[in-house]
Amino acid sequence: MFDTLSDRLEGVFAGLRSKGRLTDADIDATAREIRIALLEADVALPVVKAFISGMKERSKGAAVSQALNPAQQVIKIVNDELVDILGGETRRLRFAKTAPTVIMLAGLQGAGKTTLAGKLSKWLKGQGHSPMLVASDLQRPNAVTQLQVVGQQAGVEVYAPEPGNGVGDPVAVARESIDVARRKMHDVVIVDTAGRLGVDADMMQQAIDIREAVQPDEVLFVIDAMIGQDAITTAEAFRDGVGFTGVVLSKLDGDARGGAALSVRHVTGQPIMFASTGEKLDDFDVFHPERMASRILG
Ligand code: GDP
Repeated sequence: MFDTLSDRLEGVFAGLRSKGRLTDADIDATAREIRIALLEADVALPVVKAFISGMKERSKGAAVSQALNPAQQVIKIVNDELVDILGGETRRLRFAKTAPTVIMLAGLQGAGKTTLAGKLSKWLKGQGHSPMLVASDLQRPNAVTQLQVVGQQAGVEVYAPEPGNGVGDPVAVARESIDVARRKMHDVVIVDTAGRLGVDADMMQQAIDIREAVQPDEVLFVIDAMIGQDAITTAEAFRDGVGFTGVVLSKLDGDARGGAALSVRHVTGQPIMFASTGEKLDDFDVFHPERMASRILG
Protein backbone atom coordinates (compact mmCIF):
# COMPACT_ATOMS: atom_id res chain seq x y z
CA MET A 1 0.00 0.00 0.00
CA PHE A 2 1.05 3.63 -0.57
CA ASP A 3 3.62 2.71 -3.24
CA THR A 4 2.20 5.15 -5.79
CA LEU A 5 1.83 7.90 -3.21
CA SER A 6 5.38 7.34 -1.96
CA ASP A 7 6.71 7.51 -5.52
CA ARG A 8 4.75 10.67 -6.28
CA LEU A 9 5.94 12.40 -3.14
CA GLU A 10 9.51 11.36 -3.81
CA GLY A 11 9.17 13.03 -7.24
CA VAL A 12 7.91 16.23 -5.60
CA PHE A 13 10.81 16.29 -3.13
CA ALA A 14 13.37 15.52 -5.84
CA GLY A 15 12.31 18.67 -7.69
CA LEU A 16 13.25 20.72 -4.61
CA ARG A 17 16.72 19.27 -4.13
CA SER A 18 18.38 21.77 -6.47
CA LYS A 19 16.84 24.81 -4.74
CA GLY A 20 18.96 27.05 -2.56
CA ARG A 21 16.03 28.27 -0.49
CA LEU A 22 12.26 27.95 -0.48
CA THR A 23 10.17 30.78 -1.93
CA ASP A 24 6.43 31.22 -1.43
CA ALA A 25 6.00 30.26 -5.08
CA ASP A 26 7.89 26.99 -4.46
CA ILE A 27 5.62 26.20 -1.54
CA ASP A 28 2.49 26.90 -3.58
CA ALA A 29 3.73 24.74 -6.47
CA THR A 30 4.71 21.94 -4.08
CA ALA A 31 1.33 22.11 -2.34
CA ARG A 32 -0.40 21.78 -5.71
CA GLU A 33 1.61 18.69 -6.59
CA ILE A 34 1.01 17.12 -3.21
CA ARG A 35 -2.70 17.82 -3.54
CA ILE A 36 -2.76 15.87 -6.82
CA ALA A 37 -0.71 13.04 -5.31
CA LEU A 38 -3.15 12.71 -2.40
CA LEU A 39 -6.23 12.81 -4.63
CA GLU A 40 -4.69 10.15 -6.87
CA ALA A 41 -4.13 8.02 -3.78
CA ASP A 42 -7.92 8.20 -3.15
CA VAL A 43 -7.63 10.41 -0.08
CA ALA A 44 -11.02 12.02 0.63
CA LEU A 45 -11.33 15.63 -0.54
CA PRO A 46 -11.96 17.23 2.89
CA VAL A 47 -8.86 15.46 4.17
CA VAL A 48 -6.79 16.69 1.22
CA LYS A 49 -7.98 20.23 1.89
CA ALA A 50 -7.13 20.00 5.58
CA PHE A 51 -3.75 18.54 4.70
CA ILE A 52 -2.84 21.31 2.27
CA SER A 53 -3.96 24.10 4.54
CA GLY A 54 -2.07 22.53 7.45
CA MET A 55 0.99 22.22 5.26
CA LYS A 56 0.87 25.88 4.21
CA GLU A 57 0.43 26.93 7.82
CA ARG A 58 3.50 24.96 8.84
CA SER A 59 5.61 26.26 5.96
CA LYS A 60 5.15 29.86 7.15
CA GLY A 61 7.25 29.03 10.18
CA ALA A 62 9.58 26.68 8.38
CA ALA A 63 11.40 29.27 6.27
CA VAL A 64 13.33 30.39 9.33
CA SER A 65 14.82 26.94 9.80
CA GLN A 66 18.40 27.26 8.55
CA ALA A 67 19.45 23.77 9.49
CA LEU A 68 17.45 22.04 6.76
CA ASN A 69 17.68 22.46 3.01
CA PRO A 70 14.44 23.13 1.06
CA ALA A 71 13.75 19.48 0.25
CA GLN A 72 14.33 18.46 3.86
CA GLN A 73 12.10 21.29 5.07
CA VAL A 74 9.25 20.17 2.84
CA ILE A 75 9.72 16.51 3.79
CA LYS A 76 9.54 17.51 7.44
CA ILE A 77 6.40 19.58 6.88
CA VAL A 78 4.70 16.77 4.95
CA ASN A 79 5.78 14.25 7.58
CA ASP A 80 4.37 16.36 10.43
CA GLU A 81 1.12 16.89 8.54
CA LEU A 82 0.80 13.15 7.79
CA VAL A 83 1.34 12.33 11.45
CA ASP A 84 -1.39 14.84 12.35
CA ILE A 85 -3.87 13.50 9.81
CA LEU A 86 -3.19 9.99 11.08
CA GLY A 87 -4.05 11.05 14.62
CA GLY A 88 -0.82 12.35 16.14
CA GLU A 89 -0.28 10.08 19.11
CA THR A 90 -0.91 6.37 19.46
CA ARG A 91 -4.19 5.77 21.26
CA ARG A 92 -3.97 2.79 23.60
CA LEU A 93 -6.83 0.49 24.54
CA ARG A 94 -8.88 1.64 27.51
CA PHE A 95 -9.39 -1.04 30.10
CA ALA A 96 -12.37 -1.08 32.44
CA LYS A 97 -11.76 -0.33 36.13
CA THR A 98 -13.75 -3.44 36.95
CA ALA A 99 -13.14 -6.51 34.82
CA PRO A 100 -14.09 -7.62 32.31
CA THR A 101 -13.14 -4.99 29.75
CA VAL A 102 -15.55 -5.40 26.85
CA ILE A 103 -14.36 -4.79 23.30
CA MET A 104 -16.96 -4.98 20.57
CA LEU A 105 -15.98 -5.35 16.90
CA ALA A 106 -18.11 -3.80 14.17
CA GLY A 107 -17.74 -3.49 10.42
CA LEU A 108 -18.89 -4.85 7.09
CA GLN A 109 -18.75 -8.51 6.21
CA GLY A 110 -15.29 -9.36 4.98
CA ALA A 111 -13.70 -6.36 6.70
CA GLY A 112 -11.57 -8.68 8.80
CA LYS A 113 -13.40 -8.69 12.16
CA THR A 114 -13.16 -12.39 12.91
CA THR A 115 -9.50 -12.48 11.95
CA LEU A 116 -8.94 -9.41 14.11
CA ALA A 117 -10.70 -11.07 17.05
CA GLY A 118 -8.05 -13.80 16.87
CA LYS A 119 -5.19 -11.33 16.45
CA LEU A 120 -6.31 -9.04 19.25
CA SER A 121 -6.90 -11.92 21.64
CA LYS A 122 -3.48 -13.40 20.94
CA TRP A 123 -1.86 -10.01 21.43
CA LEU A 124 -3.74 -9.42 24.69
CA LYS A 125 -2.82 -12.88 25.92
CA GLY A 126 0.82 -12.07 25.19
CA GLN A 127 0.44 -9.06 27.46
CA GLY A 128 -0.75 -11.20 30.34
CA HIS A 129 -4.50 -10.80 29.88
CA SER A 130 -7.00 -13.60 29.79
CA PRO A 131 -9.32 -12.76 26.91
CA MET A 132 -12.47 -14.57 25.84
CA LEU A 133 -13.94 -14.41 22.34
CA VAL A 134 -17.69 -14.21 21.84
CA ALA A 135 -19.41 -15.39 18.67
CA SER A 136 -22.19 -12.88 18.10
CA ASP A 137 -21.89 -13.14 14.34
CA LEU A 138 -24.65 -15.64 13.70
CA GLN A 139 -25.38 -14.26 10.25
CA ARG A 140 -22.75 -16.07 8.26
CA PRO A 141 -23.06 -19.85 8.46
CA ASN A 142 -19.33 -20.30 9.01
CA ALA A 143 -18.68 -17.37 11.28
CA VAL A 144 -18.92 -19.31 14.55
CA THR A 145 -16.64 -22.07 13.31
CA GLN A 146 -14.20 -19.49 11.95
CA LEU A 147 -14.06 -17.78 15.34
CA GLN A 148 -13.53 -21.13 17.03
CA VAL A 149 -10.63 -21.81 14.68
CA VAL A 150 -8.91 -18.49 15.36
CA GLY A 151 -9.62 -18.93 19.08
CA GLN A 152 -7.88 -22.29 19.00
CA GLN A 153 -4.93 -20.81 17.10
CA ALA A 154 -4.66 -18.01 19.61
CA GLY A 155 -5.17 -20.40 22.52
CA VAL A 156 -8.14 -18.48 23.93
CA GLU A 157 -11.61 -19.57 24.97
CA VAL A 158 -14.51 -18.95 22.59
CA TYR A 159 -18.03 -18.48 23.87
CA ALA A 160 -20.54 -19.54 21.23
CA PRO A 161 -24.15 -20.61 21.38
CA GLU A 162 -24.70 -24.34 21.81
CA PRO A 163 -26.59 -25.75 18.86
CA GLY A 164 -30.27 -25.43 19.72
CA ASN A 165 -29.57 -23.11 22.63
CA GLY A 166 -29.92 -19.44 21.86
CA VAL A 167 -29.00 -19.93 18.23
CA GLY A 168 -30.10 -16.98 16.19
CA ASP A 169 -30.04 -14.46 19.03
CA PRO A 170 -26.68 -12.72 18.88
CA VAL A 171 -27.77 -10.10 21.42
CA ALA A 172 -28.59 -12.78 24.02
CA VAL A 173 -25.28 -14.53 23.34
CA ALA A 174 -23.39 -11.28 23.82
CA ARG A 175 -25.30 -10.43 27.00
CA GLU A 176 -24.79 -13.81 28.67
CA SER A 177 -21.12 -13.91 27.66
CA ILE A 178 -20.30 -11.15 30.14
CA ASP A 179 -21.44 -13.26 33.11
CA VAL A 180 -19.63 -16.26 31.72
CA ALA A 181 -16.43 -14.24 31.41
CA ARG A 182 -16.79 -12.99 34.96
CA ARG A 183 -17.35 -16.49 36.29
CA LYS A 184 -14.38 -17.86 34.39
CA MET A 185 -12.13 -14.97 35.39
CA HIS A 186 -11.54 -13.61 31.90
CA ASP A 187 -10.53 -9.97 32.14
CA VAL A 188 -11.25 -9.04 28.51
CA VAL A 189 -14.24 -9.99 26.37
CA ILE A 190 -14.05 -9.51 22.61
CA VAL A 191 -17.43 -9.61 20.90
CA ASP A 192 -17.41 -10.44 17.20
CA THR A 193 -20.54 -9.14 15.47
CA ALA A 194 -22.20 -9.74 12.12
CA GLY A 195 -21.59 -7.52 9.13
CA ARG A 196 -23.30 -7.39 5.77
CA LEU A 197 -21.76 -6.70 2.41
CA GLY A 198 -23.14 -3.17 2.49
CA VAL A 199 -24.49 -0.90 5.19
CA ASP A 200 -27.91 -2.22 6.15
CA ALA A 201 -30.48 -1.01 8.70
CA ASP A 202 -31.05 -4.44 10.29
CA MET A 203 -27.35 -5.05 10.72
CA MET A 204 -26.85 -1.63 12.26
CA GLN A 205 -29.79 -2.15 14.64
CA GLN A 206 -28.35 -5.49 15.71
CA ALA A 207 -24.99 -3.84 16.39
CA ILE A 208 -26.75 -1.12 18.42
CA ASP A 209 -28.67 -3.77 20.40
CA ILE A 210 -25.45 -5.66 21.14
CA ARG A 211 -23.79 -2.45 22.17
CA GLU A 212 -26.60 -1.70 24.59
CA ALA A 213 -26.56 -5.24 25.94
CA VAL A 214 -22.82 -5.38 26.69
CA GLN A 215 -21.97 -1.70 27.30
CA PRO A 216 -18.52 -2.03 25.73
CA ASP A 217 -15.49 -0.06 26.89
CA GLU A 218 -14.35 0.08 23.27
CA VAL A 219 -16.20 -0.36 19.99
CA LEU A 220 -13.61 -1.00 17.30
CA PHE A 221 -14.68 -0.32 13.75
CA VAL A 222 -12.77 -2.65 11.44
CA ILE A 223 -12.27 -1.35 7.96
CA ASP A 224 -10.76 -2.95 4.90
CA ALA A 225 -8.16 -0.43 3.71
CA MET A 226 -8.47 -1.92 0.22
CA ILE A 227 -11.98 -0.59 -0.44
CA GLY A 228 -10.87 2.91 -1.43
CA GLN A 229 -13.33 5.81 -1.45
CA ASP A 230 -16.22 3.60 -0.27
CA ALA A 231 -14.43 3.29 3.02
CA ILE A 232 -15.41 6.81 3.93
CA THR A 233 -19.17 6.46 3.44
CA THR A 234 -19.04 3.15 5.30
CA ALA A 235 -17.09 4.68 8.16
CA GLU A 236 -19.57 7.56 8.39
CA ALA A 237 -22.50 5.15 8.44
CA PHE A 238 -20.99 3.19 11.34
CA ARG A 239 -20.06 6.39 13.18
CA ASP A 240 -23.64 7.64 12.90
CA GLY A 241 -25.17 4.20 13.49
CA VAL A 242 -23.60 2.07 16.20
CA GLY A 243 -20.84 4.61 16.86
CA PHE A 244 -17.27 3.57 17.64
CA THR A 245 -14.36 4.59 19.82
CA GLY A 246 -11.52 3.43 17.61
CA VAL A 247 -10.64 2.20 14.14
CA VAL A 248 -8.74 -0.88 13.04
CA LEU A 249 -7.30 -0.76 9.53
CA SER A 250 -7.17 -4.20 8.00
CA LYS A 251 -5.48 -5.48 4.86
CA LEU A 252 -2.78 -2.83 4.92
CA ASP A 253 -0.64 -5.42 3.17
CA GLY A 254 -2.74 -4.98 0.02
CA ASP A 255 -1.78 -2.89 -2.96
CA ALA A 256 -4.63 -0.36 -2.83
CA ARG A 257 -3.71 3.30 -3.00
CA GLY A 258 -4.13 3.91 0.71
CA GLY A 259 -6.61 6.78 0.63
CA ALA A 260 -8.95 5.12 3.11
CA ALA A 261 -6.16 4.65 5.61
CA LEU A 262 -5.24 8.30 5.32
CA SER A 263 -8.80 9.60 5.49
CA VAL A 264 -10.60 7.60 8.13
CA ARG A 265 -9.20 9.35 11.20
CA HIS A 266 -9.99 12.85 9.96
CA VAL A 267 -13.41 11.93 8.57
CA THR A 268 -14.67 10.04 11.63
CA GLY A 269 -12.81 11.91 14.36
CA GLN A 270 -11.88 8.58 15.97
CA PRO A 271 -8.33 7.30 16.34
CA ILE A 272 -6.81 4.46 14.34
CA MET A 273 -5.72 2.05 17.06
CA PHE A 274 -4.53 -1.11 15.36
CA ALA A 275 -3.32 -2.22 11.96
CA SER A 276 -3.77 -5.64 10.36
CA THR A 277 -1.27 -6.60 7.71
CA GLY A 278 -2.01 -10.15 6.68
CA GLU A 279 -4.06 -13.28 7.25
CA LYS A 280 -1.89 -14.75 10.00
CA LEU A 281 -2.58 -13.98 13.66
CA ASP A 282 0.79 -12.27 14.11
CA ASP A 283 0.20 -9.88 11.20
CA PHE A 284 -1.04 -7.25 13.58
CA ASP A 285 0.27 -4.28 15.51
CA VAL A 286 -0.64 -1.21 17.47
CA PHE A 287 -1.03 1.67 15.03
CA HIS A 288 1.69 4.32 15.29
CA PRO A 289 0.96 7.47 13.22
CA GLU A 290 4.61 8.48 13.03
CA ARG A 291 5.70 5.04 11.80
CA MET A 292 3.03 5.07 9.12
CA ALA A 293 4.11 8.55 8.01
CA SER A 294 7.74 7.41 7.78
CA ARG A 295 6.64 4.41 5.76
CA ILE A 296 4.79 6.61 3.31
CA LEU A 297 7.76 8.95 3.00
CA GLY A 298 10.06 5.98 2.42
P1 GDP B 1 -15.27 -10.54 8.78
O1 GDP B 1 -16.37 -10.93 7.83
O2 GDP B 1 -15.27 -9.07 9.03
O3 GDP B 1 -15.26 -11.32 10.03
O4 GDP B 1 -13.89 -10.80 8.00
P2 GDP B 1 -12.85 -12.01 8.11
O5 GDP B 1 -12.08 -11.91 9.37
O6 GDP B 1 -13.59 -13.29 7.86
O7 GDP B 1 -11.87 -11.66 6.92
C1 GDP B 1 -12.28 -11.72 5.57
C2 GDP B 1 -11.12 -12.22 4.73
O8 GDP B 1 -10.06 -11.28 4.76
C3 GDP B 1 -10.55 -13.53 5.20
O9 GDP B 1 -10.22 -14.30 4.08
C4 GDP B 1 -9.29 -13.11 5.96
O10 GDP B 1 -8.30 -14.12 5.94
C5 GDP B 1 -8.85 -11.90 5.19
N1 GDP B 1 -8.11 -10.94 6.01
C6 GDP B 1 -8.44 -10.43 7.23
N2 GDP B 1 -7.52 -9.52 7.64
C7 GDP B 1 -6.59 -9.45 6.66
C8 GDP B 1 -5.38 -8.66 6.48
O11 GDP B 1 -4.97 -7.84 7.31
N3 GDP B 1 -4.70 -8.87 5.31
C9 GDP B 1 -5.13 -9.75 4.36
N4 GDP B 1 -4.39 -9.88 3.26
N5 GDP B 1 -6.24 -10.48 4.50
C10 GDP B 1 -6.97 -10.34 5.62
